[in-house]
Amino acid sequence: MSTAIKERKSTARRTPAGRRPLRAALKVLSGAVATRHGADAAAQISELEAALDMARTATNDARTANARLREAIEILPQGIVFLDSEGRYVLWNEHYSKIYHRSADLFKVGARLADTLRVGVMRGDYPAAKGREEEWIKERLQKLTSPRERHEQWLADGRCIMIEERRTNDGGIIGLRVDITELKEREASFRLLFEANPVPMYVVSQNGKTVLSANAAARDHYGYPGTDLIGRPVHCLHLDQDHDRLDELYSPAPGILADHVWSHLKRDGSNIEVAIFSQAIVHERAPAVLVAAVDITERRRAEAQVAYLAHHDPLTGLANRARHLEQAGEMLAAIKESGGLGASLCIGLDNFKSINETMGPAAGDLLLQAVSRRITKTLRQGSVPARLGGDEFGIIMSDIAEPEEVSAVAKRLIEVISAPYKIQSQQITIGASIGIAIAPGDGEEAGKLLKNADLALSQVKLRGKGSFRFFEAEMNARAQERRRLEQDLRDAIENDGLDVHYQPLVSLANGRIVAAEALVRWPHKERGFISPVEFIPIAEEAGLIWALGDFVLNRACRDAVAWPDSVRVAVNLSPMQFRCGNVRDMVEAALAGSGLAPDRLELEITESLFLDRSNLVLDTLAELRKLGTRIAMDDFGTGYSSLGYLCSFPFDKIKIDRSFVQGIAGNVEQQAVVRAIVGLGQTLGKTITAEGIETAEELACLRSIGCDQGQGFLFSKARTQDALLPFLTKRKPKRVA
Ligand code: C2E
Ligand code: MG
Ligand code: MG
Repeated sequence: MSTAIKERKSTARRTPAGRRPLRAALKVLSGAVATRHGADAAAQISELEAALDMARTATNDARTANARLREAIEILPQGIVFLDSEGRYVLWNEHYSKIYHRSADLFKVGARLADTLRVGVMRGDYPAAKGREEEWIKERLQKLTSPRERHEQWLADGRCIMIEERRTNDGGIIGLRVDITELKEREASFRLLFEANPVPMYVVSQNGKTVLSANAAARDHYGYPGTDLIGRPVHCLHLDQDHDRLDELYSPAPGILADHVWSHLKRDGSNIEVAIFSQAIVHERAPAVLVAAVDITERRRAEAQVAYLAHHDPLTGLANRARHLEQAGEMLAAIKESGGLGASLCIGLDNFKSINETMGPAAGDLLLQAVSRRITKTLRQGSVPARLGGDEFGIIMSDIAEPEEVSAVAKRLIEVISAPYKIQSQQITIGASIGIAIAPGDGEEAGKLLKNADLALSQVKLRGKGSFRFFEAEMNARAQERRRLEQDLRDAIENDGLDVHYQPLVSLANGRIVAAEALVRWPHKERGFISPVEFIPIAEEAGLIWALGDFVLNRACRDAVAWPDSVRVAVNLSPMQFRCGNVRDMVEAALAGSGLAPDRLELEITESLFLDRSNLVLDTLAELRKLGTRIAMDDFGTGYSSLGYLCSFPFDKIKIDRSFVQGIAGNVEQQAVVRAIVGLGQTLGKTITAEGIETAEELACLRSIGCDQGQGFLFSKARTQDALLPFLTKRKPKRVA
């Protein structure tokens, strides 16, 4: 039995051993009385003895009950104290002594709680009493005498004790003490977790749907300072249209509802996207919901941006290639389901690269944006534009009645795109070429349809830009053929497989050979000689033109050194060469390498070079002239005839294109054109050469008009160096009538 259990001192201390002498004394007494006073007296004593036995049994019972009570209260995990009606200690268990270990020395049966309290207060055992000791003691005793509800008591060692007291029937008090320190700590850390959590959290009553509590992050997040949010209907955080479905959020089934996205309303009226995590809880004994609202507005915006970028071209805002393919797929699916025709258009901008290179990428970007606006404006509903990359645009046209409808759109697009632009206060003109594939015939799968439209586009580009073409099944074969040719040409350039022939230019005044034009020749192992008209564009597109041009120039200069000094060599330059590298350096090196006098080299350029309108071209031409070479304008009259450049650059020769020469003798219009060109040349001081003279009539006509020089099969086809050399020296000036 615990030493802490005490009895009141007034209770007689009787041990069983202590009772034995009494019984022995009664026996002796009974014998004596019977001897002296007779049987009655002895009977009385027997009665007395019986009464004594009963009393003894009752006392034993009470004692057993008391012992059981003591054992019982020792087993209890709480501290227990019994006070009498005067507030004096009657009984307490060891837990009680442990809880109040600082005052345990004062606990004595019969001692007054008020006194031990006072001593405890003086010792500083109760932090809450500090500074208001008397008041505190009074309040505490008040609670003791009229106990109503539980209360908490903090002790000096940091523990928190929950006190519950009850009155007993005899006016005493049973007091219960539970150490709730751990609970309090947990509660405090939970409160901290809630209040200091960076995630906005709030608690809403399930019944009234009012905000019961909100942490600092939530108050800040929704713009309600202090306790402004507390007590408000939670509707204030929601958009009007969501008010009907608030039960989804605030009357949840037990468990977590994770990642619901809602639009919430801030106090300032702005909307935010939030991911909601909510859970049913009990808050102050009533059903409530704890809500964590993570602001995902930015994340959403970023996701939307990523999704947008995945499907759009950032420069023009048009659909990108991926989206374009999807749209083509959607169109094909619709056709499969309900029939009809659709079209895929592939638009390429002509000469965009040169504008980009000469005016800079910023201007190029502006131009692409302007083009995309024009395309979008031109299209009817049901047609969607896309930027496929670089200078290529695509269009998906659904629900077309017949291919002619697409032709009309293509024509219109070329017109619209080709109208001049004003970019960085400069006027720019570009052209457009369009390839068209009609669905479902030209492809039942999006990738194939687009590829075929692209193939048609490349055919347009090969055969004179600025127009449109429908895909034809043979184009596939042609494209393959082209790829093969490209590879063969690469091999030829690398393995010395090209040759240069020379076609003489003759003075029409005296029949003397004044120059010979270098014309590249490609003897193909299977196809024989392939025309430069066919392979020069391939070289240009495949990036082989620089190597090809360099080869021809060097060979021509070297060969020309063997010619009479009076004979110049003419070499063709592709506009592409001006874009690929430094033409001036290339020419200078060729001259230096061969030892040819610069004024014996005539460089033939075409009008398309001036499409660039760039200073780079003009500067390079000026540098070439400075080197001492001559510049000739080839194929005059076939290009984008703008006479402006005739004045902008002082070149030396104009070569009238064969198309004006052929049949000139019987065609007065052609004669008029050539006469005008000759007049212009004479005024500007340029030598005028007629190309492609095949007949004596043509020659006579051209001479009568006043052409200076002539070139054509009538005089000679292009010849090898070996065949040319004797021709240059032996050929007598021929007077042609
Ligand atoms: P081009 O510079 O105008 O060369 C003249 C073309 O007309 C040559 O064709 C020549 O053979 C042809 N020709 C000359 N006289 C007559 C004639 O009386 N009748 C007919 N029907 N044709 C005649 P070719 O050699 O096929 O060259 C075609 C074009 O290829 C050239 O036109 C030139 O633009 C280009 N080309 C040729 N060689 C080179 C080169 O080395 N570099 C560059 N960039 N282009 C070249
Ligand atoms: Mg030429
Ligand atoms: Mg020509």
